[in-house]
Amino acid sequence: MYAYSVNTTKTANVVPKDRTHTSKNQQGKAKADASKGNRVEAQDRKSASVRTHGGKPALVSACLLGEPCRYDGNSNPSQAVCALASSHILVPACPEQLGGLPTPRVPSEIQPDGRVVDKHGADRTSAFASGAQQAVEIARTHKCTWAILKANSPSCGVHAVYDGSFEGVLVPGQGIAAAALRAAGLELFDEADIREELL
Ligand code: SF4
Repeated sequence: MYAYSVNTTKTANVVPKDRTHTSKNQQGKAKADASKGNRVEAQDRKSASVRTHGGKPALVSACLLGEPCRYDGNSNPSQAVCALASSHILVPACPEQLGGLPTPRVPSEIQPDGRVVDKHGADRTSAFASGAQQAVEIARTHKCTWAILKANSPSCGVHAVYDGSFEGVLVPGQGIAAAALRAAGLELFDEADIREELL
């Protein structure tokens, strides 16, 4: 089993087994849009089907493939997602690292007004927007038709995100990168969707 992405300036070379790498890039000018327009209907989860994408490449949140790129320096490896590497090209990307944020980093949440602010009050909107834009470019480069993204993340969340209070409250919605990837035409799944479909 292996997961890999073709080498570009923005993502990684072939990687063994369930390990992936991401590279950091400079911030761009993309605008974040994480407010009301990003609300996702529950129906999305039901209509999604991994099988409709056959063996086509998928962009994947790098932390789901074992990359320690989370805000706290850990990863979120998913056995179900890693198993797809035997039949699909998986292209790892971490939008927050791509946006130039360090690892570890102060956790951020999307605010009700659409800005992304970290727990210390710093506005991280432009870094999140840049990372989202670069994730879209990577998906286009590798002709990804779908993406598997980490649930509940302010970048990658597909069905829900935290409400901005840093109190652990989830609300329907999606992350900044998820919104950009969806707008670019990719079908989105999170790791729970993959578990439901394949296990
Ligand atoms: S959820 Fe997305 S942004 Fe957060 S660590 Fe994983 S890949 Fe990076």
